Amino acid sequence: MLNIALFGPPGAGKGTQSEHLVSHFNLFYISTGDMLRRELTAGTRLGEEARDIIAAGGLVSDEIIVQIIEKTITENPQAAGFLFDGFPRTFIQAYILDGLMIKLNTSLNCLINLQIPENVSISRLLKRGETSGRLDDNETVIRNRLREYHEKTLPVLQFYQDKNQQFDVDGTRPVEDVRRDIVRILQQELDKNLFNLVLFGYPGSGRGSQGQALAEKFGLEYVATGRMLDEEIRNDTPIGRTVTGLYESGQLVPDEIVVRLIEKKIENAHGVKGFIFKGFPRTLVQSYILDGLLRKHGSRISKIIDIEVPTLELIQRLDARSRTERQMPYDSSTGKIVKRLQEHEQKTIPVIEKYQQLHDVTTVDGRGAFAEVFEKLSAEVEAGIRSVR
Ligand code: AMP
Repeated sequence: MLNIALFGPPGAGKGTQSEHLVSHFNLFYISTGDMLRRELTAGTRLGEEARDIIAAGGLVSDEIIVQIIEKTITENPQAAGFLFDGFPRTFIQAYILDGLMIKLNTSLNCLINLQIPENVSISRLLKRGETSGRLDDNETVIRNRLREYHEKTLPVLQFYQDKNQQFDVDGTRPVEDVRRDIVRILQQELDKNLFNLVLFGYPGSGRGSQGQALAEKFGLEYVATGRMLDEEIRNDTPIGRTVTGLYESGQLVPDEIVVRLIEKKIENAHGVKGFIFKGFPRTLVQSYILDGLLRKHGSRISKIIDIEVPTLELIQRLDARSRTERQMPYDSSTGKIVKRLQEHEQKTIPVIEKYQQLHDVTTVDGRGAFAEVFEKLSAEVEAGIRSVR
């Protein structure tokens, strides 16, 4: 997701730049000014309350702004991102925006500050007033709007400066030059977005080999808790010895151990484009842990895929694997295989169900040849990466 706010005095070019940015980055456009004008035209209660304030060049109350903006945002949670034009305009509205973003499980990427001097603002607005038909594009009101901007809106910048989220752009230059600068900044922001995939599927569904191949193809870091634990066993570490005992009795490894290993993996991964999580989360508790771990690193789950394979085929595959050197400690006998499948059924299926309620879970048919399934998964990952970048 890309969420941005275009900031600047009246006449800075926010509306003009928005038009291009909205189509270039496929964003949902939110202009509080346009929304208020629509309320005015429709003669609604909110419109009536705002009419005199707008006509005088003042700022409408934060209460009114919350009401018009909340409805629009929550009605469009599937948007690829939001572009805010003319909001936040007060310090309070900066907090409101943060709250709204949290509600959508996202955050503002940055604020673009279009800078123009006051005389340019005035001459542009007077020129616009010749054709805009706006009741606030005349000299007296323009001066009032600029005063409001200096007194109430400029302090908003401090909020974003403190968070290192503000980018200044010289708005006096030709439209195309300003546009190029903004696009470059936003593209850099998008490149920072990690693509995090959670790969589900019963043991034997192919999620391990597919996950590894996907990670390689798309430059993602493969996080397989099972494999990380095996490494501990191979290195005969204290964790490894504990884990061996648990495996032999077919139990899951305690969360403390798994979390420590994943945290280490995320912290040591520099410059990666994202992560593929396989075999984690396996329980509801772990699903909360993953949300927390990703949030700590300013990120979130981008896509969830469940690879589906019928149970009989799973047993056949695991049984076949148990007779090769790819045998895992946990599929060395039919009894253990069945226990693993039951474990998945009892603990992991509720996690997938939780995700189905909170996010979208994409189901991919895991039957057939490896390459065939890989192609289907690749298409999903490609689309997913495009949506975060
Ligand atoms: P704009 O189209 O952004 O120039 O907004 C026109 C007028 O609508 C402003 O002068 C304000 O009276 C009102 N307005 C628009 N957005 C806001 C906001 N976020 N907070 C308060 N008033 C607003």
